[in-house]
Amino acid sequence: MITLSAVTKSYGTGADALRDVSLEIGKGEFVCLAGPSGAGKSTLLRLLLREDVASSGQVLVEGTDLATLGREARQAYRRTVGFVFQDFRLLPERTVFENVATVARVMGQSRAHQWRRASSLLQQVGLQHRMESFPLQLSGGEQQRVAIARALMNEPSLLLADEPTGNLDRALSIEVMDIFRTINASGTTVVMATHDQDLIAYVNRRVVQLQQGQVTDDRRPE
Ligand code: ADP
Repeated sequence: MITLSAVTKSYGTGADALRDVSLEIGKGEFVCLAGPSGAGKSTLLRLLLREDVASSGQVLVEGTDLATLGREARQAYRRTVGFVFQDFRLLPERTVFENVATVARVMGQSRAHQWRRASSLLQQVGLQHRMESFPLQLSGGEQQRVAIARALMNEPSLLLADEPTGNLDRALSIEVMDIFRTINASGTTVVMATHDQDLIAYVNRRVVQLQQGQVTDDRRPE
């Protein structure tokens, strides 16, 4: 599904953020990108989201070279990818339901469809009773679950997450991982950056280790 061939990303300052990274990720995999702060994890995710392009090398997703996408194709591509950030990025003045449904409104889906899908996703993450609340009335774990529901609204085949549990305590982190595992079990490819070794052990799936922009290890559980 994803092929990186000799990808280098330089921001023009200091060392390369990614250096000669080659990586294949198959459909339906759950991959943890591990490594310390500054290793290049976010940069790799930003390339996969097509927020940025590689300085050299190729990033292919489902056979498409992301560097070749024009403005509209890029927007269309991004709608097929779900993204979850460490800091949730919910709209504070919108209700939980609106935060989740907004994505679909942008795509011109009917109100009835939005309502059904948003309710079903909020139920899936255990927040159906919080639909009319505002984000700041929720705990961090609840806010992240809203963000996950939002990321799934367009039925993405790929879910990217950048330190999604970075602001959560252990119990909530495990809840979020259980949701990711369920999403993955239903066929969505998941690529998650984290420096949390305990969480990586809990997930117990493929781990790609980055260090100073290079892949230093790539292993799957026995
Ligand atoms: P990680 O997510 O593993 O913490 P990053 O991908 O954020 O790592 O960063 C990798 C390297 O690229 C770091 O040295 C960081 O300082 C640098 N970097 C990241 N984003 C930018 C940017 N927008 N401009 C300049 N340097 C950046």
